[in-house]
Amino acid sequence: MEMKKYNQILIKNNNKKQVYQLIEDIPGISRTQIADQMKVSKTTVSALVDELMQEGYVVDEGASVSNRQGRKPNSLTVNSRDNVVIVLNWHKDSLEIGLVDSAMNITMCREYDMRNKADALAELGACFESFQESQCVGVKVMGVCVIVPGMIDERHDKIISVVLPAGEQGSYRISRLREMIKGYPLAILNDTACFAYAENAFGNLESKNYIYININDGVGAALLHGGVLLGGASGMSTQFGHVSVDRNGYPCMCGNRGCLENQIGELALPRLFEEFGLENRKIAGEKLLFKDLVALVKAGDAKAEALMAAMAEDLAYALCNAASLFHPEAVIIGGIGRKLGDTFLAMLKEKMGQMGFRQFVSDVDTEYTTLGEASVVRGAAKYYINQYFRFNDMDGSQLFCG
Ligand SMILES: [Zn+2]
Repeated sequence: MEMKKYNQILIKNNNKKQVYQLIEDIPGISRTQIADQMKVSKTTVSALVDELMQEGYVVDEGASVSNRQGRKPNSLTVNSRDNVVIVLNWHKDSLEIGLVDSAMNITMCREYDMRNKADALAELGACFESFQESQCVGVKVMGVCVIVPGMIDERHDKIISVVLPAGEQGSYRISRLREMIKGYPLAILNDTACFAYAENAFGNLESKNYIYININDGVGAALLHGGVLLGGASGMSTQFGHVSVDRNGYPCMCGNRGCLENQIGELALPRLFEEFGLENRKIAGEKLLFKDLVALVKAGDAKAEALMAAMAEDLAYALCNAASLFHPEAVIIGGIGRKLGDTFLAMLKEKMGQMGFRQFVSDVDTEYTTLGEASVVRGAAKYYINQYFRFNDMDGSQLFCG
């Protein structure tokens, strides 16, 4: 194809995507407002909107109620009734499959048992097939996302997870997962990245420069700069849980010492209880939880308070170092770490007020997330549409890692 012609098509497709994105982000927007925002002519916008309407992606809700100033412009919305993204949220013991409509609402969700499955990927494929046959009748599937609690290592064709049950050699191959999800474009995304992406899209966070920290058994983080996930959503770009807060500290599986994960992760609590002289009242096999620590602090246990303060200090130290590298405006804490509650957050803020590069750290607003667990599913769908979906060149064999 002639170069000039090719460029014209490229520009047109990009514009079309941008028009769609504006309609998705600002439901009820008019053609004139889109033209203003994109700095292109209204004729151009109208032609693209017509195309999007003919293809069934956008609907014109008609003129709003007229008033004395005259007829208001027609308002556009995405056609959320007919277009969906299927999102599989893969956990250790269960698999959730949800339908997210193109207005980013979860319209239905099913949960499947994944315990004791000899071949987790084959099971995932079978669950997907049955879901898709029963739930996706009469709708257009824009794509499929699989959220994994781990790293998506495209180069080595591997999903690396310490959370998912250890499968047989090669059982978490990316190429094999691709074979299990037939017929649709597929994006494999890291869970923390999807949670992080959801904050700006669905939370009350104004900032586009922030760190999202997922505190669970371990600790993960994702960095957003200008609303863009740094390094994408593969989980391969940061290992915040393995930032050392004590170079002579407790040795970690990763080879480093004093890793943040071993200082504040829930799995580290039994060791930390011992170090701080706290009695672990759990019976064998029962897990020590953040909320157990919180209960002790509430009851006025001085040792428990000392442990919580040490955890806050370690996290503050890691965050202040991250702030020096990255200058975020906000830190959002998600995961079960939220159970550490207000006392921990107050301690964390106090410690952050005492360390780090002052000019940067004093700008940072640190809060727990206000979004629920389901935000990961919406975050995945939104990221996939924004990042990968194209109107004119999608096919069922496409694979996007991160
Ligand atoms: Zn480590």
